[in-house]
Amino acid sequence: MQEKTPVKVIDGRQLSDLLIEEMTQEVNERTQKGLPQPGLAVVLVGEDPASTIYVRNKIRCAEKAGLFSLVIRLDASCTQQALDDVVVELNERDDIHGILVQLPLPKHLSEARIINLIDPTKDVDGFHPVNVGLLSSGQAKLVPCTPLGCMEILEREMGDVSGKHAVVIGRSNIVGKPMANLLLQANCTVSIVHSKTIDAAALCRQADILVAAVGVAELVDQNWVKPGAVVIDVGINATEIDGKRKLVGDVNFADVADKCRAITPVPGGVGPMTIACLIKNTLTAAKQHDM
Ligand code: NAD
Repeated sequence: MQEKTPVKVIDGRQLSDLLIEEMTQEVNERTQKGLPQPGLAVVLVGEDPASTIYVRNKIRCAEKAGLFSLVIRLDASCTQQALDDVVVELNERDDIHGILVQLPLPKHLSEARIINLIDPTKDVDGFHPVNVGLLSSGQAKLVPCTPLGCMEILEREMGDVSGKHAVVIGRSNIVGKPMANLLLQANCTVSIVHSKTIDAAALCRQADILVAAVGVAELVDQNWVKPGAVVIDVGINATEIDGKRKLVGDVNFADVADKCRAITPVPGGVGPMTIACLIKNTLTAAKQHDM
């Protein structure tokens, strides 16, 4: 009888450290050549605990990679005009190559307006319509960090993904759609599954690469997975197990792991790669600025 290959649990923290190490080296080489230190500005409105932690981790990572970084904090009750003014000023600063406004914003502020106001060449979240258009027309410059992180994982794990059937669960602007576009550009055959898809599990069972970006805790069980598939779990869902708060993904890890070739855990999979890709985008933005 043929031996079953053991599943590989992809260590996103280790991959992220590796990526940051590579970028730190690049940043050092830049500064030695007299090129400007890449600069990242993060704007945080209010004191949402999750956003505060995300921002802290982003800045810590930026500093580790040798970037110049700053956080601009605004009160939760700030006006749209005050937020606009901050973004306009950052757009004009020569020492800032990347601008990130931490989302979600308080309800009285317009996210769409702020996304549109950020200079597209400094839009390290890749949400500006110019960057969305460049990605979908095959001229990507700044790409949303989470799908970019998923592609880094896939390329490092699988090498060439050309010809693979990739199924993306979810069609949001920040994960699902850019993910599908990136996979398409890597020559995968791509299907997108969403909340209105009929028999989503049957489609997912055809996937060589399955990316879950749904926001439904442990939706994907082994009935959704083709044997030998590579499964990327983007979901971060807070649940309570035995009275303890726990983060779980969109994939039921324990149920699925045995069936696939490789899988990302939650936490410690896609999350750390998202932050590393923010640094990558800031470096990309700085390089574009050099030209
Ligand atoms: P979203 O709510 O904007 O989109 C969810 C998508 O899932 C929608 O397109 C919807 O059509 C689809 N969907 C919902 N229920 C479905 C079902 N039963 N079957 C098939 N499709 C269904 O969410 P999002 O912003 O794309 O985030 C998705 C998940 O990824 C969330 O858990 C979020 O917390 C997580 N996330 C993680 C990171 C990270 O760094 N790891 C970054 C961004 C988002």
